[in-house]
Amino acid sequence: MKYIGAHVSASGGVENAPINAKKIGATAFALFTKNQRQWVSAPLSEKSIALFRQYCEEFGFSAQQILPHDSYLINLGSPEKEALEKSRMAFIDEMQRCQQLGLDRLNFHPGSHLNKISEEECLQRIAESINLALDKTQGVTAVIENTAGQGTNMGRSFYQIKYIIDRVEDKSRVGVCIDTCHAFAAGYDLRTEVAFEQTFAEFDEIIGFGYLKGMHLNDAKKDLASRVDRHDSLGKGFLGNSTFEMIMKDSRFENIPLILETPDEALWAEEIAVLKAMI
Ligand SMILES: [Zn+2]
Ligand SMILES: [Zn+2]
Repeated sequence: MKYIGAHVSASGGVENAPINAKKIGATAFALFTKNQRQWVSAPLSEKSIALFRQYCEEFGFSAQQILPHDSYLINLGSPEKEALEKSRMAFIDEMQRCQQLGLDRLNFHPGSHLNKISEEECLQRIAESINLALDKTQGVTAVIENTAGQGTNMGRSFYQIKYIIDRVEDKSRVGVCIDTCHAFAAGYDLRTEVAFEQTFAEFDEIIGFGYLKGMHLNDAKKDLASRVDRHDSLGKGFLGNSTFEMIMKDSRFENIPLILETPDEALWAEEIAVLKAMI
């Protein structure tokens, strides 16, 4: 099955996310389980948790169709002791929130070295952060998102992601989310059948499809290898519809959440319908 949706709003409570997803005809969704611009949020209420679970069941969203995203403030590879501690605490809190909601994965950006430590040291810190979080939680997989490699962000290459995975103790609870815009901006071409096959053959060889726990379907506002993270609506950017058509027709992308993070929310229902029609 192809599970297709968008990163929907959870404002007013996490229980609103499945409602918002249902409204746009989604069979998958992403959400923030807390305010993504704040370090600390109130714990999830019993009522919110119960309603979230109830709506997910009612609308047919199982855990493999849901890809929560962590806060943008978190840097699991931070060179600063205090910021690293704070990030690790916040990440553990987010993993626990997922656990409370009955979710089985949490998507996050690996981290940034801020030009204060080497790339390798940063990647090692990220792996250690994941180990600490997995130790304190159960049943939730830490899903590393590939990045555009903007600034000092790690995770632009399959090798960097593999380097992290290699250092995670519990391999059964680490995964990967590939964002099409980020991959393209990082230099992985996805526009033609040949390029698409080559990119995902490389992914399979270096990381392995067994680790793929989600995808972000975004067109790109900037050209190949720009290292600039600017999402565009499907078919309106440098990737074009062919990339998404290849994903929709490819069985390797089944049974995982396929999530739009495209900039125009008003188009999500239509984008989902277009994607479904491509299958
Ligand atoms: Zn992301
Ligand atoms: Zn993304």
